[in-house]
Amino acid sequence: MNPHRPGRSSNGQAAYKDFDATSLYCPRCRQAGPVRKRLLLVLPQGDEYEYLCARCGASVGMKIEKNAKQDPLLY
Ligand SMILES: [Zn+2]
Repeated sequence: MNPHRPGRSSNGQAAYKDFDATSLYCPRCRQAGPVRKRLLLVLPQGDEYEYLCARCGASVGMKIEKNAKQDPLLY
């Protein structure tokens, strides 16, 4: 089984760090750079985030983070 199950700590905000997409290519700056993550929408299947260039603020990407709290035992 999975040893990393969060158990009962699923209430409240998860304080984990994001390791993905800390640096993305920005077409306006014409180089990869640090990005800021902004929550756009909360969808039933997950949270939709927009990535903004930390230099110029241009939108450089979107991502839907799947809701990891979903339990496969739910019917
Ligand atoms: Zn930029």
